[in-house]
Amino acid sequence: MSLRGSCLCGAVRYEINGDLRGVLNCHCSMCRKAHGAAFRTRASVRSGDFQWSAGEHLLTFFESSPGNHRGFCRICGSPMVSKFEHDPSQLGLPLGALDDDPGVRPEMHVFVSSKAPWYSITDNLPQFAGFPMRLGRGPINAEQPE
Ligand SMILES: [Zn+2]
Ligand SMILES: [Zn+2]
Repeated sequence: MSLRGSCLCGAVRYEINGDLRGVLNCHCSMCRKAHGAAFRTRASVRSGDFQWSAGEHLLTFFESSPGNHRGFCRICGSPMVSKFEHDPSQLGLPLGALDDDPGVRPEMHVFVSSKAPWYSITDNLPQFAGFPMRLGRGPINAEQPE
């Protein structure tokens, strides 16, 4: 499976050859602010399955929590990937920048204790106040699913 993604201005582009895992909607305040939205839909991707096609030099990384770096296009501000110092083998991928259908869908809502008061969850996916501990190790990033 090959997936393409790009930022709003089109200067930053990437391609993924591999599976996306751990798709979830994160309602934490950092994700809400980083995306200017009710929540961030994100997945995990293996670093080795991900490659930049264009504009990697235009990325700026912001360390939103210790060791977690959110990368965005410095021209248009689109969030592109997150890098984790504790696990360089994985990237956090916001699905909003995808140009292709990844075939996977969100499986849960996390950090709903930080949910925006003006947004109501209307689907039947499981909701977690924080991050479910059973997912705290392995393919999904630990405490903060950035
Ligand atoms: Zn851009
Ligand atoms: Zn979050």
